[in-house]
Amino acid sequence: MFENLNERLERSFQLLKGHGKITEINIAETLKDVRRALLDADVNFKIAKSFTATVKEKALGQNVLTSLKPNQLMVKIVHDELAELMGGEHVDINIKGNPAVILIAGLQGSGKTTFSGKLANLLKTKRSKNPLLVAGDVYRPAAIDQLHVLGEQIGVPVYSDKDNKNPVKIAEAAIKEAKAKGHDLVIVDTAGRLAVDEEMMKEIEAVKKAINPSEILFVVDSMTGQDAVNTAKEFNDRLDFDGVVLTKLDGDTRGGAALSIRSVVDKPIKFVGTGEKMEALDVFHPARMADRILGMGDIVSLVERAQEQFDADEARNLQKKIAKNQFNFNDFLSQISQIKKMGNLKDLASMIPGVGKALKNIDIDDDAFKGIEAIIYSMTPLERENPTLLNGSRRKRIAAGSGSNIQDVNRLIKQFDETRKLMKMMSKGGKMSRMMGNLP
Ligand code: GDP
Repeated sequence: MFENLNERLERSFQLLKGHGKITEINIAETLKDVRRALLDADVNFKIAKSFTATVKEKALGQNVLTSLKPNQLMVKIVHDELAELMGGEHVDINIKGNPAVILIAGLQGSGKTTFSGKLANLLKTKRSKNPLLVAGDVYRPAAIDQLHVLGEQIGVPVYSDKDNKNPVKIAEAAIKEAKAKGHDLVIVDTAGRLAVDEEMMKEIEAVKKAINPSEILFVVDSMTGQDAVNTAKEFNDRLDFDGVVLTKLDGDTRGGAALSIRSVVDKPIKFVGTGEKMEALDVFHPARMADRILGMGDIVSLVERAQEQFDADEARNLQKKIAKNQFNFNDFLSQISQIKKMGNLKDLASMIPGVGKALKNIDIDDDAFKGIEAIIYSMTPLERENPTLLNGSRRKRIAAGSGSNIQDVNRLIKQFDETRKLMKMMSKGGKMSRMMGNLP
């Protein structure tokens, strides 16, 4: 995500290294580079121009007031301006009303159906909502089936009616059903087309009028760059939506859509999609996104994801086990499964400051744990509980059972033993207790 932009901006800041203070002359080259970097990221040229003008003004203005070095000052100003460009503050969605109704709009393939599932999942698990998903695509039966599959995965019911070809009637009937069955939230997925067309707009306008949603979210594929911005404008002119969802930010999107949409349509980005899985949805925070663009990582989001996935009771339990040196392979497995739930590994690693760049050309796939899990699953329950039982012949059996070789098994057990020792040492010193003691 944004790797190219990040690199380009960094290079432009380097130009200021060695200068004592910012002057109109020495800043000129940096600003030109920043502008080029933005244009290459597919940011609209007017936005890029006014962005650099503001940065220049701020840099020259703040120059005397700060003890920062010119390159550091530029990083700070560019960071703040990027956040500002993306809307400044985070804006929440409106889920008031009983039921609250959320209408999802966008072109076909933008990720509407996937997002509808992700949003239902998020509001169900994090905000204790009881959602009903509505399949409003009357043209593609496959889209209806897709929503049913997602609904099943996340345990959210889906309303559909394949015999009804009128999306307004479907949406109305769904809301009636939601009221009857006590759902406090309805998410209406709609039909998209490959390009904006009058019929589609009329249809979704009619749905909006009929169901009066508390929130209309426009979903757009961030890989489409400037096109994304233009489509957003067309939809906004007709629908006056409340927020934008940028999908596929996990791909090698250049970032232009994320940076331009807010200033073109004056509507906040509220969510970003970062993968195909139901958990791959981030609430959008402009400042955190600016951190990521500048390669500063995003520790806040990383910690939040960890807090969401890690069960406090389980962590407390684990802490006790570590102190008693009872940490075993079952605990190890459960830790791996919790980490996997946090999302794509490369994406997670890139939230650690500095790590994203280091990993740029390295492939970390989601199957990184597969080998380890296979070995542990080939142990008997007794062996998992008591790793000291693992003698030579048992190790040989485990290697054969897991399709790995004996060296892999030895290595894993050795690492496990070392980790266990280290954990015990830390927990004795009180460090671990302090680290884990702040659990809610
Ligand atoms: P719709 O036609 O707008 O409903 O789009 P879909 O929800 O069917 O999504 C189109 C394709 O994009 C599917 O293959 C999805 O799995 C994929 N997709 C959706 N959101 C994301 C995302 O955030 N990241 C990635 N990598 N793929 C996504």
